[in-house]
Amino acid sequence: MKIAIDIGHNCPPDTGALGVKSEDEMNRLVGEFLIKLLISAGVDVIDCRPKSATTVGLSLWKRTNSANTCGADFYVSLHHNAGGGLGSEVFAVSDEGIAAAKRVLSKLVGLGFRDRGVKRQGFYVIKNTLMPAILVEVCFVDSNADCTLWDKLGCKAIAQAIFEGLQESLKF
Ligand SMILES: [Zn+2]
Repeated sequence: MKIAIDIGHNCPPDTGALGVKSEDEMNRLVGEFLIKLLISAGVDVIDCRPKSATTVGLSLWKRTNSANTCGADFYVSLHHNAGGGLGSEVFAVSDEGIAAAKRVLSKLVGLGFRDRGVKRQGFYVIKNTLMPAILVEVCFVDSNADCTLWDKLGCKAIAQAIFEGLQESLKF
């Protein structure tokens, strides 16, 4: 099982949202621990975050290109939301993506985040990957309640929840 992990943004000028907390930092902390968990479980991980990119478009293209050329079986893009909402949501288009999205979302909701649902919507990284893909929006960086819960749980518990959702769905 080969899983591509796309730690969202973290590649200027592709930078994440800023609110109570920084999306870049949250994506990185959760993503790096998720990668450790997957490797410990024997998964072949492709870290898709580019070292550099001159434009946001190129940053996105490099992420999907890494996954496509390495022949990943599944793609996980990790983000935190902004815009005045509350809670977790997971995006997917393919049936396999939707199934995994449901598992991952239910684990995040189990941690206490509000259930915003699985949404069948293709962002760039979902539309341009050859394998089933999900995009996880863990919670809102501009919500005090979400950031308080995030800090209380810590990045490891959040990564663990995403890991368990993936493991149940992808059976590795
Ligand atoms: Zn983002």
